[in-house]
Amino acid sequence: MAIVDRALVRLLPAVPKPVVRRISERYIAGEELDDALRVVHRLNAEGKMATIDVLGEEITNPNEARAIAAAYRDTFDALDRGRLDSNVSVKPTALGLKLGYDLCRENLESVVAHAGERNNFVRIDMEDASTTDDTLRIYRELRAAGHENVGIVLQARLKRTIDDVRELAELKPNVRLCKGIYLERSAIAYRGFDAIRVSFVQALDALWDAGCYVGVATHDEWLLGQTRERVAARSFGRENYEFQMLLGVRPALGDELVRQGHRLRIYTPFGRHWYAYSLRRLQENPKIAGYIAADTINRLIPGRNGAS
Ligand SMILES: Cc1cc2nc3c(=O)[nH]c(=O)nc-3n(C[C@H](O)[C@H](O)[C@H](O)COP(=O)(O)OP(=O)(O)OC[C@H]3O[C@@H](n4cnc5c(N)ncnc54)[C@H](O)[C@@H]3O)c2cc1C
Repeated sequence: MAIVDRALVRLLPAVPKPVVRRISERYIAGEELDDALRVVHRLNAEGKMATIDVLGEEITNPNEARAIAAAYRDTFDALDRGRLDSNVSVKPTALGLKLGYDLCRENLESVVAHAGERNNFVRIDMEDASTTDDTLRIYRELRAAGHENVGIVLQARLKRTIDDVRELAELKPNVRLCKGIYLERSAIAYRGFDAIRVSFVQALDALWDAGCYVGVATHDEWLLGQTRERVAARSFGRENYEFQMLLGVRPALGDELVRQGHRLRIYTPFGRHWYAYSLRRLQENPKIAGYIAADTINRLIPGRNGAS
């Protein structure tokens, strides 16, 4: 199956852009902020929260990174005006991490401060393992500077995650826990499907033992079940956790969570660079191409399991 996924990714640049756009439509809100706001409005009406991701092209100079920070500040203003229930998710490299630590920190702090003035929240996405140390360092510095409205992401795929949970515990971080999309070296990452699931559950228990609020970001039904069992066993309420899913992925599962009374936040990307972004994500993890292909086929062939 992995060979088929990799072949799909290699073929992708040959697929006409309008076709890729049709397929991407359900995963990307659109090109403009207004497109994202419309989607958030709909999600809110369905009882779901959102987190908006401004898709940036690969950043090559500081001005591009500053422009992305400005786009995030504009996003907060628009959310405020529309009284929409959404925060934002920010990639450190989009704010210039690869160009300079201080540039990224400065940009991120401007976004976090802007969000704070509007009683809103910034989630710092976690990218590949070359960025983990710097990302956690920026997070610690922002907290030390008094910013409480900021959270991080930890990836169950990484072997270091359980140690990161212990080291961060005293800060009681607001954490999104996910499997991790980046395929890392086996020296630092679990490779097996079950090993990643076990690591996820261990990190989840450790985060909750430390009193953290956790955004459980997965579409894996087994992990959703494990999480629900733990929520019940710990008698947790909505102040302890939320579920998070990607726009367009397994929406029926998300609807079920909302019906059961859980909080659910939908990751909502928008931006003009959606094509470059989509290709990059697929190259990072070809398995996603397999998911999308299977999902698209399910939708084309009625009667197959396409509703979720
Ligand atoms: C809200 C949110 C935020 C995230 N933020 C980060 C982050 O900051 N850093 C990071 O490294 N990773 C992030 N991820 C990605 C995550 O790490 C996983 O790569 C991704 O969620 C797939 O893992 P899974 O837990 O859903 O389990 P899987 O076992 O991979 O997927 C379960 C099922 O969900 C479906 N599925 C999953 N993903 C897709 C997809 N993209 N398209 C179509 N179908 C799909 C498939 O049907 C699959 O069988 C995020 C995920 C979510 C939901």
